[in-house]
Amino acid sequence: MTQGFDTLQVHAGTAPDPATGARQVPIYQTTAYVFRDADHAARLFGLQEVGYIYSRLTNPTVSALANRIAALEGGVGAVCCSSGHAAQIMALFPLMGPGLNIVASTRLYGGTITQFSQTFKRFGWSARFVDFDDEAAVAAAIDDDTRAVFCESISNPGGYVTDLPAIAAIADKAGIPLIVDNTLASPYLCRPIEHGATLVVHSTTKYLTGNGTVTGGAIVDAGTFDWSASGKFPSLSAPEPAYHGLKFHEALGGMAFTFHSIAIGLRDLGMTMNPQAAHYTLMGIETLSLRMEKHVANAKAVAEWLEKDPRVEFVTYAGLASSPWNARVERICPKGAGALFTFAVKGGYEACVKLVDALQLFSHVANLGDTRSLVIHSASTTHRQLTPEQQQAAGAAPNVVRLSIGIENVEDLIADLDQALAVATA
Ligand SMILES: *Cc1c(COP(=O)(O)O)cnc(C)c1O
Repeated sequence: MTQGFDTLQVHAGTAPDPATGARQVPIYQTTAYVFRDADHAARLFGLQEVGYIYSRLTNPTVSALANRIAALEGGVGAVCCSSGHAAQIMALFPLMGPGLNIVASTRLYGGTITQFSQTFKRFGWSARFVDFDDEAAVAAAIDDDTRAVFCESISNPGGYVTDLPAIAAIADKAGIPLIVDNTLASPYLCRPIEHGATLVVHSTTKYLTGNGTVTGGAIVDAGTFDWSASGKFPSLSAPEPAYHGLKFHEALGGMAFTFHSIAIGLRDLGMTMNPQAAHYTLMGIETLSLRMEKHVANAKAVAEWLEKDPRVEFVTYAGLASSPWNARVERICPKGAGALFTFAVKGGYEACVKLVDALQLFSHVANLGDTRSLVIHSASTTHRQLTPEQQQAAGAAPNVVRLSIGIENVEDLIADLDQALAVATA
């Protein structure tokens, strides 16, 4: 990183608009772009020249956002798409095919577990879920048909921290990429590429935008993976029939994955981010570090207060000295363990539901990473499709509620929790 994070979050990927001098990135509410001549058009379609063709593929506002996210994550390129879930499909699409599998952590966002365990089957893909603290089990789950290892840096809902360098070493040894969902940490708290990740995916819906306005996703490529080292990634290493036989890795080197994701992924899957969404997310990212500092400070204070309260059974926040993941924070996400965690209310499921209903400042919503503090009972909502065993393994047991701590005055958050706990445990 040449410039500091706070500088990059404001400037990276954007210069004053070349046409007008506009200082803020304009919203290019545009579908198509005039070719200079027939040769220019042919060169753009042949990937011999980079430029704009049609906004399903690229749009200047969306490209500005992609470039800014790539800079913040320390990648060579990024592609934005319509949601975090779209980013996961887009990340795997060039790597996978019928009969192939991924090895994934049991501790993932509930929707991701459902996408991997159910919807994948429609494509002939499969996922093997393993406890990522059991390194031998992760290595053992990888076979000749495995094309990626997938985990979250800080995981939803429990705030567990993954030992990224250890998992990256296992993926490296097997010659397959490590894909890290960095949604909960954001690049301010954790930069998975520095810990060995090949691809980083984001739900930009969350902290990157930061204010609950738009859904979006992004895939960042480290640019370091050798797609040609084995015959496992023909879409990137061999002549690609979906793109008149272009060998992406040979032709584009470190940018192979990014170009493939635009030229084939967005072209054929169509999970495109719209320029309005990119605009809102660009606005949000400008204050990412400031917000994350406050999110983390508030989360730590709330978690410490809850842990001392006799009405609370346990708190999962990795930023607490008592957490089994606390030792990893310093190494993996030294600026803090994020602002999402769960806690168990004495009184189990019944008390959790009462607590959620009694909270007034916390909003009861299925979202996280908002400036506002949010609460949800995961087992009956985001992790509802999971079996009880999967819920337990994911950290979403019926007796816990999930908090996404916002940037309000922390005394007000604690006062609200205090009164709601009184109602829930009366
Ligand atoms: C929300 C979320 C997703 C899915 O993102 P959408 O933008 O809602 O599609 C994926 N991973 C994590 C960790 C999330 O929190």
